Amino acid sequence: MDDYDSLLDRARSQVPEDAFNKSGERFKVPDVRLVVQGNRSLWQNFQDIINVLNRPGREVIKFVSGQLGTAGSIEGGNAIFNGKFTIENVKDVLNRYIDSYVICPVCTRPDTEIKKIGKGYYMVCSACGAQTAIRPV
Ligand SMILES: [Zn+2]
Repeated sequence: MDDYDSLLDRARSQVPEDAFNKSGERFKVPDVRLVVQGNRSLWQNFQDIINVLNRPGREVIKFVSGQLGTAGSIEGGNAIFNGKFTIENVKDVLNRYIDSYVICPVCTRPDTEIKKIGKGYYMVCSACGAQTAIRPV
């Protein structure tokens, strides 16, 4: 009887962890590639990253440049900021964006989209159905 119980406990404790790891693997944001040219910073794989995030580039650039306190624009697949920034600066802000606008706070999966419902904006999760009110960027 004891053996059966401990076996069951072990089986239960393994299930949520496996499910979490699987969803983590599905969402791999590439490392930020950034070079400084003169007084500007070029985020070279901007397009690749917003493809993974499944968010419009103009929204992401608005958030990131706002947080960096500078002006930003999109040229080709690059995002360009006035001023010299480091990869850590951009990664920091990008993680803040992902936490606030991509990851569902209920189930922690990234399968979300932003929808306007009535007068408010919501992050709607297709994995668990949660609707989380957000502040528009
Ligand atoms: Zn969810």
